[in-house]
Amino acid sequence: MSNMINNLKIVAGSNSARLGNEAIDSSLDLAQRAAMMTEAASKLEELFDVLMIDHRNDHNMRDTPARVAKMFVEEVLSGRFQEPPKITEFENAAGTEDLIVTGPIEVRSMCAHHLMPIYGEAYVGVIPSRDGKIIGLSKYDRIVDYFCSRFQIQEELVKQITNFIVETTQPRGVAVRISATHMCKTHRGVRSTRESRMITTSYHGVMEGDRELKQEFQRECVALARSGD
Ligand SMILES: [Zn+2]
Repeated sequence: MSNMINNLKIVAGSNSARLGNEAIDSSLDLAQRAAMMTEAASKLEELFDVLMIDHRNDHNMRDTPARVAKMFVEEVLSGRFQEPPKITEFENAAGTEDLIVTGPIEVRSMCAHHLMPIYGEAYVGVIPSRDGKIIGLSKYDRIVDYFCSRFQIQEELVKQITNFIVETTQPRGVAVRISATHMCKTHRGVRSTRESRMITTSYHGVMEGDRELKQEFQRECVALARSGD
């Protein structure tokens, strides 16, 4: 185990520490993640001690430090420690240059400011380049999930998803729109209703300057949202 912790310390050193919504330099293997969970669990025990919770004897909370540590490492922050989704590309054989819109894609993230859940839907619009590549539709779900699995703010989340699609598939245009509820707003602070949402959109390439394309994208998002009701 001490060896694992040593490995982890190398990984968690200054050359690899990153912002809460960025991936670390190189992904962690199973043993490194296990060591991280052990370390995180002991820090959570300390936190509960500070909060004067008798977690060692509380029948509800006895395993909570280990449970929460695992949740952070393997789920909530998995998009920092694991490899990005593999993108299978297909030739754009038909030379499609029309706007493709997919969604709603589930957004499950956690806000970087309060560590409270963010949940909602994402829509992705892509205009492939005629001689470029297109990717399987389910990949967009995986890409969204990968970037959601970090401590996020919604404005940067849409940009990260957009940039990843641009870098991996070089399309002519991309649009990413997220509509989400932030529990840091519904469960604390102003305690707004859960109907209170935030919408952010990020555009790239030909989508950026073309009003008609933007309107077409927004219309498709509304249509996809309605058909999901
Ligand atoms: Zn927040």
